[in-house]
Amino acid sequence: MNYTSTRSPANDPISAQEAIKRGIAPDGGLYMPMQIPVLTLAEIDVLCTKSYAARAAYLLGKFLTDYPTEDLLTECGQVYSSARFPGGAAPVVRVDDTLHFLELWHGPTAAFKDMALQIMPRLLSGALRQTGEERTALILVATSGDTGKAALEGFKDVKQTKIQVFYPVDGVSPVQKLQMATQTGDNVSVMALRGNFDDAQSGVKNIFGDDAIREELAAHGVFLSSANSINWGRLVPQIVYYVSAYCDMVKNGSIGAGEQIDVCVPTGNFGNIFAAYLAKTMGLPIGRLICASNTNNVLTDFLSTGVYDRNRAFHTTMSPSMDILISSNLERLLFLLFGHERTAACMNALKKMGCYALSRDELSIIQKTFVGYFTDEENTARIIRETWEKYGYLIDPHTAVAVGAAEQYEKDRGTKRKLLVVSTASPYKFASDVYASLYGETPKDPLTAGERLSEKTGTEIPAPLADIAKRTVRFTQETDAAHMAEEVLRFATGD
Ligand SMILES: *Cc1c(COP(=O)(O)O)cnc(C)c1O
Repeated sequence: MNYTSTRSPANDPISAQEAIKRGIAPDGGLYMPMQIPVLTLAEIDVLCTKSYAARAAYLLGKFLTDYPTEDLLTECGQVYSSARFPGGAAPVVRVDDTLHFLELWHGPTAAFKDMALQIMPRLLSGALRQTGEERTALILVATSGDTGKAALEGFKDVKQTKIQVFYPVDGVSPVQKLQMATQTGDNVSVMALRGNFDDAQSGVKNIFGDDAIREELAAHGVFLSSANSINWGRLVPQIVYYVSAYCDMVKNGSIGAGEQIDVCVPTGNFGNIFAAYLAKTMGLPIGRLICASNTNNVLTDFLSTGVYDRNRAFHTTMSPSMDILISSNLERLLFLLFGHERTAACMNALKKMGCYALSRDELSIIQKTFVGYFTDEENTARIIRETWEKYGYLIDPHTAVAVGAAEQYEKDRGTKRKLLVVSTASPYKFASDVYASLYGETPKDPLTAGERLSEKTGTEIPAPLADIAKRTVRFTQETDAAHMAEEVLRFATGD
């Protein structure tokens, strides 16, 4: 299986290992496989009899053909084990006849990024080994909260790698901030950026595109790579849980084999929902993909008008991992549907003017599968409360945004298909907001909000969040966009 940049075929083709090593293409594009492999109903049938780890190894093998099958099996077996995912890798919880939740937050950082970031460092490490790479990979991460911590956990003390994380200083929750500030490991750096997530992401992208920085790093035996969802190594493990959830729904009798389901995904950078689209393209029986946004509803507008316009106010919400105005992985969808040239034109317009517009025909192709809705803050709080009251099921604000979108979708369409809502974070990661949504008052201390939430609801705090206030803070430094490159060089070349 070979890979190409979304923007031009000039440097094609490259292998999966090379794509994962580089993270982003030299022309600024993202890597995509040159064909999408097929998944038949018969194969799905077989996967239904297997463990999550075996399902993962099989599906990864379809895309990562240059990795030995044995290695994939071993790595997936170790990563998706009950030691790392005590609640199961990706359990499906059925709350009524129609509504199902896919819980992706049983990993070490209590958010769905673990699903990919526990395996991705191993994929990168395998690629370095098998391509005879001697340099150190420096992983640069811009995070709106969850990616940073999950990447730090995945990469800490992984040989031949260093990891540096930038997060927006006021754009993450107190728990998220503390999770990152207390990160252990000898190859890690964490910095607060005075700016929002898009500033952090643009800063990282600019460093990737800066030849002078690359050369200076190379002189020190370092090259840049990425753990953001622009890296193909992040996306392919995310396909797995859609297939796995489908299998589990067949197994528990929620659906018949081959029956279509709708999937609703709380969306920021468009990585998670794009993985669902890939699963559908491969052959998984998915009807509609519901793209759920918070008040940063650039995607809702895009999916209804065909105009992507990031020139708008940025809102800080209680679902910070979706406070994003540039959804990077949308580029991959454009490429898959409309090819290199059209994608490059749209991305140029986005960079120069902050917007681009699709034609009517292009939009209608996208609308065959995707529909977008957004949920504002008030409705997010209401849905957290109602879901608890109605089902005794506690959800975090990101998941609530998705339930809000699904609610509007069902009203509009009256569909009969079963619905899978992707639950992307433990409610305890956002305990203050969840508590306030349920009981109408915000706990004074955000760090003990979890204990209060647990007492009131009789639900359990996930182990990785239970002792957070007791850990040692290691990272308190702040910087601004103008000094990011300097900080990267200092960390990369220092000892
Ligand atoms: C990252 C994240 C999202 C958004 O996922 P994308 O792949 O960026 O669309 C949603 N919810 C949570 C909790 C997240 O951490």
